[in-house]
Amino acid sequence: MAYTGGMGDGAHFPILGTEPGAAPRISSLLIKPVSAVCNLDCVYCFYLDREADPYKSLPGRRMTLETLERLVDGYLFYSYPVSIFAFQGGEPTLAGLPFFEKLVEFQQHYGRNGQSVSNAIQTNGILLDDAWCALFMQYNWLVGISIDGPEEVHDAYRFNKAGRGTWRQVIRGIETLQRNRVEFNVLCVLSQANVEKPRELYRFFRSLGIQYIQYIPLAEFDRDGNPLPFTITPEQYGRFLCETFDVWWPDRRKVRIRFFDNIAEALAGRKPGSCTMHETCDSYVVVEYNGDVYPCDFFVESGWKLGNILVDSWPEIARRQRRYQFASKKTIAHPECQVCEYQSICHGGCPKFRHGPHRRFEDLDYFCAAYKMIYARAVGPLKREVEKILGRAPAPELEAVSPY
Ligand code: SF4
Ligand code: SF4
Repeated sequence: MAYTGGMGDGAHFPILGTEPGAAPRISSLLIKPVSAVCNLDCVYCFYLDREADPYKSLPGRRMTLETLERLVDGYLFYSYPVSIFAFQGGEPTLAGLPFFEKLVEFQQHYGRNGQSVSNAIQTNGILLDDAWCALFMQYNWLVGISIDGPEEVHDAYRFNKAGRGTWRQVIRGIETLQRNRVEFNVLCVLSQANVEKPRELYRFFRSLGIQYIQYIPLAEFDRDGNPLPFTITPEQYGRFLCETFDVWWPDRRKVRIRFFDNIAEALAGRKPGSCTMHETCDSYVVVEYNGDVYPCDFFVESGWKLGNILVDSWPEIARRQRRYQFASKKTIAHPECQVCEYQSICHGGCPKFRHGPHRRFEDLDYFCAAYKMIYARAVGPLKREVEKILGRAPAPELEAVSPY
């Protein structure tokens, strides 16, 4: 068994299990070892204290080692020869370093000859120390740090439990990673605090030596469909992406921005790493702390539960009618998508952004106007770049999938 990952290879793997009639393969797991529990209290967090959270009133939301062992054993068997584990929260480091050391112990015990395993973690970075870094280095983990930009921007919404900004603590975590030579990427949430500062953000991340950046647009709404104050508009998001594209373009061979990577992957005939650009919503599943399984991070709701790893096998979970029902939400055609020149790249965007404002999957993606702006700006240059690099269309490939 071998550990793959790191920032360089992007964990690209051949497509598996796509033979006609087979249930679409679950190609990666997004695991929440402490459910929504977090050591921070970010104003915009969609996962903390959601009304629809099936677990919010339950004490002790922490994955047991018995559940972890079942998860590793079952999923390594199901996903052979390529197994992808991604940890998220809440704040996954709250599960403690011994939990993750046990994880790799189980992976080594249950992994088979020729099996390729990769681990990823998305964290706010606050609890990281040298011991965490030793684990990440030894097993080639893919580490993502959540930071929204310079101090005044980050601290506009990312508070600790006492209501104070957390930027300095996150920077300490980043310095710890850098001191230990752990490669990492940053995930930056775009809110009203930073969406008008694309060049400043890009320069800030470059000044930290970051080479892989992911931007996530915020779109949360009240019961009447009105955007919450931190939610950005499609026009703001479109302008942000276009300006970022312009400032990034001269650095394109040394800095990676996930959205632009995904467009390039689609243009190269490969399946993009982000599920939002897939034809259907069935690439990955979420595993909650108690083993419950859901089809998407944005729909961890009892109505969408697919099963539980302690009682259901992975092939059973993969074949659940509800999984097909959820996957097909994305294929509900909107008239505008049907005639859109970018349909083969965009595939109608993300059902979360269709469903968000008015709870209707058949609506147009809230960010459609932003996508059209950036596709109009970026598709031409990226297409020429892809052709220059490859000289030919490659065979389709698959990588770790998530909306992040
Ligand atoms: S994030 Fe969006 S595109 Fe991805 S699985 Fe969920 S609803 Fe589908
Ligand atoms: S850009 Fe807009 S219209 Fe075009 S496919 Fe995407 S969501 Fe649909």
